[in-house]
Amino acid sequence: MGIDVVVLARFLLTGIALLLAFLATITWSRRKDAPEATAFAILVASMAVYAFGYAGEIAQTTTTAARRWLDVEYLALPWAGGLWVLAACKHNGRRGRTPLLFVIPAITFVGHYTNYKNLFYTAPMTMVQRGPFRVLMVERGPLSVLDNAYLMVAFLVGAWIYLSGLRNASLLFQKQAMILVTASFLPFVGYFVYLTGLSPWGLDVTPVTLGLTCALIYYGIFHCGIFDLAPLARNLIFNSMRDAVLILDTHDRLLDFNPAAHAMFPILNKRNLGTDVVSMLSDTSTFVEAVRSTEDEVEITMEGSDPLSYEVRKWPLFTASSNSASRLIGRAVIFADVTAQVRLREELRGRAETDPLTGVANRRRFYQALEIECLRFTRNQLPLSVLMIDLDFFKDVNDEYGHPVGDAVLRIVAQLLLLSLRKTDLLARYGGEEFSVLLPETRMEGAQVIAERIRQTVCEQPVLADGCHVHVSVSVGIASHDNDGEAAPEILLKKADLALYRAKALGRNRVEVA
Ligand code: GH3
Ligand code: MG
Ligand code: MG
Repeated sequence: MGIDVVVLARFLLTGIALLLAFLATITWSRRKDAPEATAFAILVASMAVYAFGYAGEIAQTTTTAARRWLDVEYLALPWAGGLWVLAACKHNGRRGRTPLLFVIPAITFVGHYTNYKNLFYTAPMTMVQRGPFRVLMVERGPLSVLDNAYLMVAFLVGAWIYLSGLRNASLLFQKQAMILVTASFLPFVGYFVYLTGLSPWGLDVTPVTLGLTCALIYYGIFHCGIFDLAPLARNLIFNSMRDAVLILDTHDRLLDFNPAAHAMFPILNKRNLGTDVVSMLSDTSTFVEAVRSTEDEVEITMEGSDPLSYEVRKWPLFTASSNSASRLIGRAVIFADVTAQVRLREELRGRAETDPLTGVANRRRFYQALEIECLRFTRNQLPLSVLMIDLDFFKDVNDEYGHPVGDAVLRIVAQLLLLSLRKTDLLARYGGEEFSVLLPETRMEGAQVIAERIRQTVCEQPVLADGCHVHVSVSVGIASHDNDGEAAPEILLKKADLALYRAKALGRNRVEVA
């Protein structure tokens, strides 16, 4: 019966050793590019050696034979603490001081193999019967105390590094971090139980707890993508991005957001994770519109005292899986502030459509507006009229007062014309000293009234330009579409031009209709 337990323990330890060796190989071969994979793989491999040595040790009956297996264990054991801390540092993007981590392990290592000379590590060992096991009794020397203390501290430091990573971790990575923390406390607990003599028959349970730890980490690697994420680097980018990022699941529930998103939507906080964002942000109609839109990229403007424009991009998120088919798990919605670009674009567009001298629309913008109005006429039969206005004897104004005064007169006349029009009318400088007016939804009779008002205002208002009182008048030609049929801009303009020509011919300072 007793021998059965020993056989079982050896079997178990050998199994653990094989499992660890397998895990080390897999970690090494599949995740070479993860920063902590190398340290982790070496750690796991050394634990495999340790478990293998211990499996040998517990079956021996003589001190010499047991010590031989202990020598195998000590090939690996001293380095575990340093490797554990190094892997944790690498995982969290910290700079591990690699050589320093291995000073004490190196001393332990040398100490163990020179122990027969100096007994710094342990006093000569004896074997005692503990239940079914014959166990090597170790009377600890100073080096052994140092070794044990270092291992304990290293396990704790590693756990602490993972815990601090957990605090910084974006919420998406918390599961991975939890696995690592649990995994990192297990060997500590096992070692503590062994050192305090609480383990059954005084056996070292560390290989078993380490086996569990490695199984957990293995689960983390292949089911939670621990090594696929370099959490610190990702968090750093995520948290310092100026673009607002919201991570949503496939039902548009909020999974995560970055500080920029919180600044943009102060309602977002950790308490409403898991809530449907569309209902949470239903007050912001542009947001809802952007999220619902089927386009991958839309531009929205957030109203406010200072309206801001955003380019909203939506990226699907898949499970990071290199071997099996990846699954859609949600999407990232990214808001990039493009207010500056939008303002610049609008300014450029404004400049391209504005007459620089008078500030009113230019011929190009007038023509575009006229085309649109003609289409509306064709569709809805809404009447529209056009005025062509030319300053009378303007060459004489230039000749008499000079070109700069002529320019000032043009600016003042433009303002006078604007005062005589409705907001919906469009005044443009058609060229030289010629203006045009688009009067939407206006019949000939209405246009005549407006044209007469313009003529009268300009004629009666003495223009004070650059200190000179200049008398100007205008001739106006009117054309209207108010019958059935199609409206064409060219025809309307031609008719208005002909009417203007007639006004000039009939003596100027008058209004003529086509
Ligand atoms: P009318 O139209 O009554 O037949 O006589 P007009 O003297 O106005 O004749 P016309 O239309 O042929 O001449 C237009 C003049 O307007 C010619 C040019 O010197 C002047 N002009 C055109 N553009 C500008 C401008 O941007 N600034 C100034 N100061 N003058 C301009
Ligand atoms: Mg003229
Ligand atoms: Mg002219």
